[in-house]
Amino acid sequence: MRYAVISDIHGNLEALKSVLKSIKKNGVDEILCLGDIVGYGPNPNECVERIKKMGVKTVVGNHDYVMVDDSWLEHFNPAAKLAALWTKALLKSENLQYLACLPFTVRLPDILLVHGSPIKPGRFHYIFNAIEALSQFNGFQEKICFVGHSHYPAIFTSDGDVFKDGVELKDSVRYIINVGSVGQPRDKNPSACYGLLDTDSLTFSLVRIDYYIKKTAKKIMKAGLPVFLAERLFEGR
Ligand code: ZN
Repeated sequence: MRYAVISDIHGNLEALKSVLKSIKKNGVDEILCLGDIVGYGPNPNECVERIKKMGVKTVVGNHDYVMVDDSWLEHFNPAAKLAALWTKALLKSENLQYLACLPFTVRLPDILLVHGSPIKPGRFHYIFNAIEALSQFNGFQEKICFVGHSHYPAIFTSDGDVFKDGVELKDSVRYIINVGSVGQPRDKNPSACYGLLDTDSLTFSLVRIDYYIKKTAKKIMKAGLPVFLAERLFEGR
């Protein structure tokens, strides 16, 4: 099986379109999504509708969750809070309903999907480094746990190694893989990011793809969302 794994789209339709085009070119069997379809970006309805229409298996992200549970707003910084309220006011009821039904975990053979971390996925903890990753391996049984949330792509192994771009999967090793962010990369590379897993050749690789950032940024400004949310896209921060 060849899987494309996407995460943290954040209402960025231009980035999502570019990534879907690239995925199509790569000829995968299934697309998986790690949540945060909405929040920050100007096209939450369009992004939800694309994911919904393709029947993509998706877990809930904190920015999706806050659409249906206001109490999570207290965990958000001012720009994120403002964007969340703007998004909620714009979301069609059927799209809100879709987000409300997303699970915290999705399990496939040998693969676990969560938004933040496998231990207490409903708390949306971050995994930023090898030490934080190592503490999470007893939280799941599968060979690979895919995560998003931090918007920093990285491949953490149960041996304590960290790989940046790709890895050949070993029998004796387990993996926590952050596939980066489609719609708001923060690793100083503004290109949209996603992951490709091939369970036959036992390889995983990260893919970076350019998109029309200017168009998304203009829409963010026009919507009256915080300017920082537009600026950060050009710098990938
Ligand atoms: Zn996110």
